[in-house]
Amino acid sequence: MTKILHRNIGTNLPKAVAGEGIYITDSEGRRYIDGSGGAAVSCLGHNHSEVLAAMKAQMARISYAHTSFFTTDIAEQLAEQLVELAPEGLDYVYLVSGGSEAVEAALKMARQHFVEVGQPQRRHIIARRQSYHGNTIGALATGGNEWRRAQFKPLLPETHHVSPCYAYRDMQTGETPEAYAERLAAELEAKVIELGDDKIMAFVAEPLVGATLGAVGPVADYFKRVREICDRYGILLILDEVMCGMGRTGTIFALEQEGIVPDLVTIAKGLGGGFQPIGAVLLSENIYRAFAEGSGLFQHGHTYIGHPIAAAAASKVIEILKRPEMMVNVVKMGDRLQAGLDAALGQSPYVGDIRGRGLFRGVEIVADKDTKQPFDAARKIHSKIKTEAMQRGLMCYPMGGTMDGKQGDHVLLAPPYIVKPEQIDLIVERLAAAITAAIES
Ligand code: PMP
Repeated sequence: MTKILHRNIGTNLPKAVAGEGIYITDSEGRRYIDGSGGAAVSCLGHNHSEVLAAMKAQMARISYAHTSFFTTDIAEQLAEQLVELAPEGLDYVYLVSGGSEAVEAALKMARQHFVEVGQPQRRHIIARRQSYHGNTIGALATGGNEWRRAQFKPLLPETHHVSPCYAYRDMQTGETPEAYAERLAAELEAKVIELGDDKIMAFVAEPLVGATLGAVGPVADYFKRVREICDRYGILLILDEVMCGMGRTGTIFALEQEGIVPDLVTIAKGLGGGFQPIGAVLLSENIYRAFAEGSGLFQHGHTYIGHPIAAAAASKVIEILKRPEMMVNVVKMGDRLQAGLDAALGQSPYVGDIRGRGLFRGVEIVADKDTKQPFDAARKIHSKIKTEAMQRGLMCYPMGGTMDGKQGDHVLLAPPYIVKPEQIDLIVERLAAAITAAIES
């Protein structure tokens, strides 16, 4: 009997005993293609010898030094690498241990920034419905996924939500992407005015929505319009790249494809590649200066921030991600994955949309393609797909609640960037079979 409180109590999880490249092997000797990188984490695959060597070398130097006493060469090096890669204007780095911690830190940075610059009335957070920004209280409050929030609502601080940019379901017939972006920007502006145009602290969004919608990217100009609204009302723009960042969409930061620079960016998952738990917040010079010239303190912190071994893993992951062949492969294999999914599933009466960028792809399942009506939630199509896929040796990341937190099913694919053409074809074949089996069951 297990002594672990597993997420799904009572399910019989296989035991992972080994990992190599894009594969995980269980204790029964079954091999699974890690078609989702866990949850878009394992960007370089498993057991990467260079990353393991970098961690080992760091362990032999120093494994831990509390950041109120010391900095370390490896944490400083990692911050420099990140700033060098980031769009101009994001000049400082705050290291944490994961995605939720990054979001919490970014929210507190936004708040403290306004206190430091004499605008303490700015306290409202606006985010988007059907979003996920982490499971800790502040991050959960920021997310708009009703299913995840429901039972914790009484504990959550007040936040506000507007529509996500979700063209498949929300762009009207005859509406251009530009007009759709304008409509969403107008909704955001109306929310700002409703709450008090000098009372908003931050707008939070994922460039491409991962867990809650399944690789849903913005229409052209959406983030340009959002940036304009934020600038007009002095609101900080926080982009959450915890899932879609670190090369997943074909550029190191997904936001590079949007032609804007936010004030704060959160990253995690692919940053440590699964070798170590690590996340980070990138922040603008402006915010840094408010702290430096104000109280001289960012009033926040965790015991493991800047952990040297986590920093060593992330530093090596970044070094590898920067090799030109890496992003080339993400784009090439991403195109192959999209084409393969289109060919295998595009004609299915149960596949409404196949979308994404790079190696971040989502498939939305529907009961009726014309009306986009989802399956009855009780059928749990998404979790059946996961089971059927595991039986066929494929890990994929399924999620329900695409529409309103209750109804709607999608599957997310996010294989490691080292994936090869024949492996992409196998992923498509196994996923297509799993979807058919789940719907027929
Ligand atoms: N933000 C986003 C966009 C995420 O996808 C996630 C995790 N799925 C988080 C934050 C939370 O990250 P973590 O699970 O590492 O706390």
